[in-house]
Amino acid sequence: MTEPVGESKKKDVEYPDIAILRKQIDAIDAQVLELINQRLVAARAIGRIKQQTGKVVVDKGREAEIFLRLLSLNNGPLKTGALYRIFESTIAAGRGVQNLRGPAEAPPVFAVFGDPVGHSLSPVMHNSALAQSGLNGIYLGFRVGDIAAAVEGIRGLGIRGVSITIPHKVGVMKYLDQVDAPAVEIGAVNTIVNRRGILHGYNTDCPGAVTALLEKIIIKDKRVAIVGAGGGARAIGFGINQEGGRLTVINRSGQSGQKLADDLGCNFQPLADVKKLCYDIVINATPVGMTPHVDQSPVKPELLEAGTVVMDTVYNPLQTQFLKNAAEAGCATIDGASMLVHQGAVQFELWTGEKAPVDVMRRALLDELSIR
Ligand code: NAP
Repeated sequence: MTEPVGESKKKDVEYPDIAILRKQIDAIDAQVLELINQRLVAARAIGRIKQQTGKVVVDKGREAEIFLRLLSLNNGPLKTGALYRIFESTIAAGRGVQNLRGPAEAPPVFAVFGDPVGHSLSPVMHNSALAQSGLNGIYLGFRVGDIAAAVEGIRGLGIRGVSITIPHKVGVMKYLDQVDAPAVEIGAVNTIVNRRGILHGYNTDCPGAVTALLEKIIIKDKRVAIVGAGGGARAIGFGINQEGGRLTVINRSGQSGQKLADDLGCNFQPLADVKKLCYDIVINATPVGMTPHVDQSPVKPELLEAGTVVMDTVYNPLQTQFLKNAAEAGCATIDGASMLVHQGAVQFELWTGEKAPVDVMRRALLDELSIR
């Protein structure tokens, strides 16, 4: 129901604190506006110098420098994603008064297709990366039921790159023009690259998990246990095999666990039979411990051994019960955001051909997680 006119004024009288705070906000807005205009006056002066010296180009390096400086100055509560959105608009306004235009073509559009998709952290992560790299692009979330129609939409709208999430990672494959060999072997695509209308599918969960692990430990010849036998476990297991790790699949249900172990050419152990996790690396690839079930862990704490590197794929919460137990047992830990950021970095590089600003992506992600 629409609030009657004057109703909000009445509430302010009833709650004088709000009225005072709103007055403060109005005064701050006036200062912000004044400062933005001062910034634009300076930008216009730079524009004139650029024109006189023949330097009429958008300076992406300078824009990247501005964002990094602002990030280092920001002590919150402004979140990284919001910081990028605000200053991206401010910088665009600066280009306007300098009579500098970005590239003549429409900005490149990227997207994530899933159902549900509202929870996805990819928009905040990729929009920050696009702004930091001065690419003048935009990344949007689409709730997609009909994946076949959505893939046609990529072609029709000229969307440059798409992330694919639950439940479409397997179903999307048959609608693509080409699928990268590892993604065919894994049996899932989480990334589409549109190259002049030809749609290529990739799986970046696999290199994302491997990079997250390699930051802490060399995988070659290490004993690695993956708990879980779903799509995530399959992608990670493929990457462990490629790196020369000695893999074991551990799973609650025997049938799917044995099937994945057969496909990956490794041992299988039922979760209920595990007495001790004598491995160099243990990875949780089940959703156990995810919000709201934050006190759950896929394995009992006493199964963990000191010295093991323990990775969780669950990133909400960041410090899962599994990781807390592991740290208490003397293990090194890797959180689920690490894999998420690195798989996103591979996507960014596939789409743009530019090096991903991994630190910015991680910071945007952690900021967003801290408010969820
Ligand atoms: P999935 O295909 O649904 O597989 C889930 C697996 O977890 C199955 O093997 C299932 O065992 C096991 N499982 C589920 N509930 C369990 C329980 N209560 N106790 C023991 N095992 C249980 O899921 P997925 O796509 O592989 O995703 C798994 C996790 O990885 C999710 O949390 C997802 O968010 C995460 N993930 C993270 C990233 C990242 O970038 N950080 C990327 C991809 C996935 P059964 O076979 O016995 O049913």
